[in-house]
Amino acid sequence: MRQEGSLRSAPPWDTRPDHMEELCSRVRSFVDQRVIPCESELELPGPHAEEPMRRLQQQARAEGLWALGLPNEIGGGGLSFLDYVYVNEIVGRSYHALSALGTHITQDALLLHYYGTAEQKNRWLVPMVAGDMIPSFAITEPDVAGSDPKQLQTRAEWCGDKWVINGHKWVTTHADFASFTICMAVTDPDATPHNRASLFIVPTNTPGYNRTRSMSLLGDTSGGHSDVLYENVELPAEALLGGRGEAFAMAQRRLGPGRIYHVMRWIGQMQRALELMCQRAASRFVHGSLLSDKQTIQNWVADSAADITATRLMTLDAARAIDSGADPRISIAMVKYFGAEALHRVVDRAVQVHGVLGVCSDSPLDSMYRRARFARLYDGPDEVHRMTVARLVQRILTDGGAA
Ligand SMILES: Cc1cc2nc3c(=O)[nH]c(=O)nc-3n(C[C@H](O)[C@H](O)[C@H](O)COP(=O)(O)OP(=O)(O)OC[C@H]3O[C@@H](n4cnc5c(N)ncnc54)[C@H](O)[C@@H]3O)c2cc1C
Repeated sequence: MRQEGSLRSAPPWDTRPDHMEELCSRVRSFVDQRVIPCESELELPGPHAEEPMRRLQQQARAEGLWALGLPNEIGGGGLSFLDYVYVNEIVGRSYHALSALGTHITQDALLLHYYGTAEQKNRWLVPMVAGDMIPSFAITEPDVAGSDPKQLQTRAEWCGDKWVINGHKWVTTHADFASFTICMAVTDPDATPHNRASLFIVPTNTPGYNRTRSMSLLGDTSGGHSDVLYENVELPAEALLGGRGEAFAMAQRRLGPGRIYHVMRWIGQMQRALELMCQRAASRFVHGSLLSDKQTIQNWVADSAADITATRLMTLDAARAIDSGADPRISIAMVKYFGAEALHRVVDRAVQVHGVLGVCSDSPLDSMYRRARFARLYDGPDEVHRMTVARLVQRILTDGGAA
């Protein structure tokens, strides 16, 4: 069991509105006192981590901390998007707190809440929010660029009385243990590029859904990423989620806010990395002084605090845009790549201050570093979000018109 201290009082940039203080401090206690001490167990592959995770999930439900970002009417805590920013960055202190507090299902639960039929909600949404089912979401394919999903090759054909899906997906997170996958497949190849694909709910025990292997990403297997062949997967008409040909619009509604959920949690990861950095620098003596007395280390501490502050302000800006109904595209794309790179910078500095301890599993930093690297790829690589920001900014500033 790992033990680590944390800053005794909140640093000046760590501010939140009064009405969120009590809830945030309860979440903080849960994450720091219950989840973080179990992290070594939770990093173990497969069944070894299941029991401690189940225990934590029960405790979270009992303490009223479960799925705080989901609407009340589907069993969540009913927080607004903006208020959830403050909670989610605390959840983000530990990767495993996501599952322990029911945050890992937020995007898929909202997708089913917005677009599912009554039957789909009963079958998939209710047990998912109750913590009895794990979802997954499959777009990326090995043979075409995931950054450009218009190239998708997986096909779903209507054969008179059923859908038949054929294709190859990979890096489907949680698919190793998911009960179902929401799969994006081309249904209308001749339609305009953004109207060719549809979403399907695929139970993972359907014949022809063949998980060929678990994927290891930089040595990490805890994300349950699978490579999956879809070989004549037969589904009834009711498996279609939302409208035919509307996968892009629906996925955008899932991925846009989802990117902000990620960035909220990265702030928590950055804060934890900075705490570890400061604690180590204040206790490691080298070449005549503590590391904290060296100018280089002081620069890293200052730059990391600045990275956290900038990311938080950009995140709040994007959350306000979403809550107010304003067009959030620039804010979301901007904070997705800025936040991912800031996370990578801060965790990298913390690793460096720790020397070999920073890349060894005795410290949480080795898994934090791996996951920080992933952040620059999933839900769109940095370059794609820069492209979006540049295109929209250029359009506004040269055409003088709306983006
Ligand atoms: C931890 C993790 C979890 C994931 N989970 C899922 C999941 O659950 N479901 C799922 O479907 N997918 C998932 N993915 C896949 C992820 O969404 C894709 O990796 C991502 O969309 C990029 O696609 P690609 O890997 O095919 O890279 P490519 O599209 O081949 O891109 C390769 C590189 O090209 C560059 N590039 C791309 N476009 C441009 C451009 N316009 N200008 C300049 N450079 C460019 C970028 O540097 C990019 O990294 C996950 C990935 C990771 C790392």
